[in-house]
Amino acid sequence: MRILIVEDERKAAEYLQRGLTESGFVVDVAYNGDDGLHLALEQPYDLIVLDVGLPRRDGWSVLASLRRAGRQTPVLFLTARDAVSDRVRGLEEGADDYLVKPFAFSELLARIRSILRRGPARQPDVLTVANLELDVTRHRATRGGQRLDLTPKEFALLALLVRRRGEVLSRTLISELVWEMHFDSDTNVVDVAIRRLRAKVDDPFALKLIRTVRGVGYVLDED
Ligand code: CA
Repeated sequence: MRILIVEDERKAAEYLQRGLTESGFVVDVAYNGDDGLHLALEQPYDLIVLDVGLPRRDGWSVLASLRRAGRQTPVLFLTARDAVSDRVRGLEEGADDYLVKPFAFSELLARIRSILRRGPARQPDVLTVANLELDVTRHRATRGGQRLDLTPKEFALLALLVRRRGEVLSRTLISELVWEMHFDSDTNVVDVAIRRLRAKVDDPFALKLIRTVRGVGYVLDED
C-alpha cells in the first residue's frame, strides 16, 4: 500500500513517514501543495494524508484539483483547528475523513486502516432518494426530472438530509452543519428553511420525503 503525505512541517512529516513505514506502508512525502498535487497526479497512491495549511497551494486546492482531474484517491485531511466549517468543507469537497491536530499516531493509523478497508468507492456524486436526485458536484437538484430551484443553503440542507437519510437530525445539529452556528437559541432558522425546502421539494409531489419528528428534528426518507 502506497501513501502520500503532504505536510510542510518537516518534523511532523518525517515522524509520520517513519511511523507509517514501520507499519508496512510505502510512503512518499511532499512539503508543499504544488509538489503534493504533482505527485498525486503522477503516482498511483492508495491514500493521501493532506494537510490543510500548506505553502504554494493549500490543501483545499490540492483536493479540488485532484477531484477535478477525476482522481478518486482517498484523502485524509489534517486540519489545525477543530472548526466545524473546516470539517464540513473538507467532507463536502470530497475528503474521506479528517483528523484534527494534534493527534496521536495510533489514531492516524486507525483512520488510515479504516479508509483503506472501505476501498476506493467514494460517495457517488449523484445522490438519489425515490425520484429525487442531487448532483453534489454541480449543485443541481431534480425531482421527477424537474429542476428544483434551490439557494445554496437549501441545497446544503437537502444534501445533508439525503446523505443521512433515515436518520433523525436535530435542529442543533442541522444549524451547526449548515449554518455553522454553535448554539441552539436560533434553531428557528432551521424550521423556516425546512418549510421553504418542503415547498420546493415535497409540496408539488404526492410522496413526501421530509418528515418532522416532534420534539427531535427532521428526517428524510422514502416511507
Ligand atoms: Ca501546515
